Amino acid sequence: MSVTHAPQTADVLARQDPELAEILLGELDRQSSTLQLIAAENFCSPAVLAALGSPLANKYAEGYPGARHHGGCEIVDVAERLAVDRATSLFGAEHANVQAHSGSSAVLAAYAALLRPGDTVLALGLPYGGHLTHGSPANFSGRWFDFVPYGVDAETGIIDHEQVRALALSHRPKAIVCGSIAYPRHLDYAFFREVADEVGAYLIADAAHPIGLVAGGAAPSPVPYADIVCATTHKVLRGPRGGMILCGSELAERVDRAVFPFTQGGAQMHTIAAKAVAFGEAATPAFAAYTHQVVANARVLAAGLAGEGFVVTTGGTDTHLVTADPAPLGVDGRTARGRLAAAGLVLDCCALPHADTRGLRLGTAAVTTQGMGEKEMQRIAALLAGVVRGGTDSASAREEVRDLVDGFPPYPG
Ligand SMILES: *Cc1c(COP(=O)(O)O)cnc(C)c1O
Repeated sequence: MSVTHAPQTADVLARQDPELAEILLGELDRQSSTLQLIAAENFCSPAVLAALGSPLANKYAEGYPGARHHGGCEIVDVAERLAVDRATSLFGAEHANVQAHSGSSAVLAAYAALLRPGDTVLALGLPYGGHLTHGSPANFSGRWFDFVPYGVDAETGIIDHEQVRALALSHRPKAIVCGSIAYPRHLDYAFFREVADEVGAYLIADAAHPIGLVAGGAAPSPVPYADIVCATTHKVLRGPRGGMILCGSELAERVDRAVFPFTQGGAQMHTIAAKAVAFGEAATPAFAAYTHQVVANARVLAAGLAGEGFVVTTGGTDTHLVTADPAPLGVDGRTARGRLAAAGLVLDCCALPHADTRGLRLGTAAVTTQGMGEKEMQRIAALLAGVVRGGTDSASAREEVRDLVDGFPPYPG
């Protein structure tokens, strides 16, 4: 079999492998016919998908542009340089590494660049929204480092800044990590920098969630404050599934070596090209407007849920992310998620600060990409409440979801 040119269309797959083509079409149908409220998800553009499905996927490229361990890298070098240039100018960073395969790989590389096994690290505890890479015993981080968790205020759900300072002073960590999978408010990066300086610690910002908002100007940037910023490219940022690291020039070489050769092998050039496309899109006024709409939508969703009786963590949101306890509606998070899934409303459970039961975590990045606005958020809040309470049966809820999403196809045509 000879492959002389890239498969351009779904037709190629349909002809050669109808079994898999059907699975892909089934997933496209699922994404288009149900409501995507998972806070970490988005719909990347057809241009990003085109780069991902390109022959750059064939290229082996260990090393960095101009210094590769493989031949034939002269074209992909241009792609990676473009991605790096676009990332540094988008975020005002001195250096960007765009090779990290994922958000977790970016965090692993940041630790590898700055820490040694056994070092003490201060990070938001997992019950309050810390990521697995922030010290979970099931993750390398919890096994190889001595994590000290900080938490949030029991009443307000806001990060307990005095506790952060007190723990930093008593434990003298080598690094402080700020960043979360569920915290709906802006982080006070200047505060974390101040505490890090007080105890001589590195500051690592894990901005996997808000980095897209940062790109559009809808959230404060950690870049001026953190020694290393870790991020994903596939959440609000709307690029391909992958990671990214930003830092100052003094740490550039350590960070690059921590990614390759320390924790990764060959760079995924198709993904890096797709990251370049996404950074280009994120630098446009249209993307800035998008990020502000994402936040406006999340605020309306949070207010709508509060109005329906959910307990919204921190009383609202500054970001794309809302966490809510459905307990006042008579169900726990797991039951609620199950009812919602049956009705075509796709979202996650999350830990709730100071509660034994799970809550719901939602985000507005995907629905806003589809073009939904504040009116639709009010409709979604009412729909969620009806389904969670059990008042709306799943068949009629599915019909309403269908009615809602039919007007906002993520991939028209
Ligand atoms: C999403 C996320 C990650 C991990 O990203 P993956 O690409 O799934 O590995 C790490 N840290 C935080 C804070 C995240 O939100």
